[in-house]
Parts: sequence; C-alpha cells; structure tokens
Amino acid sequence: MPAGLEDLFPPARPREPRAEAGELRRALVVAAHPDDADFGAAGTAALLARDGWEVRYLVTTDGSKGSDDPSLTPAALAALRADEQREAARLLGVSSVGFLGFVDGELERSRALVEAITRELRTFRPFAVYTHDPEPLFVSDAFVNHSDHRATGYATVDSIYPTARDRLNFPDQIAAGLEPHRVRAIYLFGSDRPNCESDISAVIEVKLAAMRAHASQFSAEFLEQMPVFWREPDGRHLERFRRILLEY
Ligand SMILES: [Zn+2]
Repeated sequence: MPAGLEDLFPPARPREPRAEAGELRRALVVAAHPDDADFGAAGTAALLARDGWEVRYLVTTDGSKGSDDPSLTPAALAALRADEQREAARLLGVSSVGFLGFVDGELERSRALVEAITRELRTFRPFAVYTHDPEPLFVSDAFVNHSDHRATGYATVDSIYPTARDRLNFPDQIAAGLEPHRVRAIYLFGSDRPNCESDISAVIEVKLAAMRAHASQFSAEFLEQMPVFWREPDGRHLERFRRILLEY
C-alpha cells in the first residue's frame, strides 16, 4: 500500500484520492489568522508534503489585531504576520499561502467569505480540507473559540457543501471557467470531539520551527513549554481532528 493518509490515520483509513476520477493529492488548510494553521495542522501538513501531497494554506483575516506592541500599526502588523506565515509554510513544505484579507476580529459568516472560499476550492481542487471546528463556543471548557475561528470554520464547511459542489451557486465563477468541485474529507482542528489523530512525532521539530517563525506571536518561554505541554504520556506528539468523510 502506498504511504499516504492510510499511514497517517490508522486504524480508521480514509481512501487515497483516485486519479482516474480526477481526484488530486491536494490538501487545503483554511485558518482565520496567521499561525492558526500551524497550531492546528502543521505536523500533518508537513507529513502530507513529505508524502508528495500539494498542501496550500489559506488565511481568511489579515491578522491586524494580534499584538500589544504600541509601535506596530495594523498595516505593519498584517505585513509582518503574512511574512511569518509564508516562512512557516516554507519550513513545512507547504507550497503556497493565500490571504483573503478580511479584517482581524471582525470576520462574519458572510456571503462574501463563502464566495471567496468557494473560489479557492474550485481553483485549487483539494481532496481534503483542514479548518477550525466552528461548533464549540468553548473548547474543552478551557478556551473560548475565537469568533473569527468559528466564522472561518462555518464558512469553509458552507463552501464545501453546497456552494463549491453545485454549479448554480456563484455561477459567475463557472462562467469564468471554474468547475464545480467535491471535497472528499474535512478535518476540523480545535475540536472538543475529535475522532481521529495524526502521529506527528516524526516532524515535531519541523512543527516547532514553524511555530517559531511566528515571532510576533509567541514568547520564548511559551515556545520552550510547548513541546512538553503537547507530549502524550507515551512520548508521542499528536494532532487531533474531527473528521467527516464525504463520499456522496
Ligand atoms: Zn486565531
């Protein structure tokens, strides 16, 4: 059996993309802020990239509210964080990063957001999509699920089904030459009901390097604690997802 998703997610085994059906070994990670994709799925992204998958990041907001540094304007912060995200992606083998540019902290589950993500899906044509679990308002009774995370998760799911799939949604995209697209697997991070896990032990150092690339976001002390905090009792490092397979 070729290495791929089967190796990442035993014993529940999603099938590989079928080339004869036009399915591509592509994964799209849709995240609200620069650094969210790396928090949630950097290890899995690195494993997929090493296995020959084409992985793309899509960041919905500009990240312009994520600093307490009074010397940084929102525009300067947005530019800095975009650079940090591109560097993290490069370290992981993620082949491209897109930015939708909605204002940080003000994202809504809007038609404009669904339209933009639908365009991405119809253009990149991923087999699997990774994004925020939009459902919990509180994650594990310990964290508030940021409103931008919820809006991004909802809009991404709404874009996967039905809008990207059905040609009468956003017909101007179809008229411009894009085709409808079916995503086959959704992986939600930041979930309080995960049903699968990816063993990222082999790439934990790469994930940490990607996290360090977000220098405006994480203190040295936090970065030092992270691998300890994340380590399982048996020594492994995992990324957990709520997985939804869309075969129909
Ligand atoms: Zn975030």
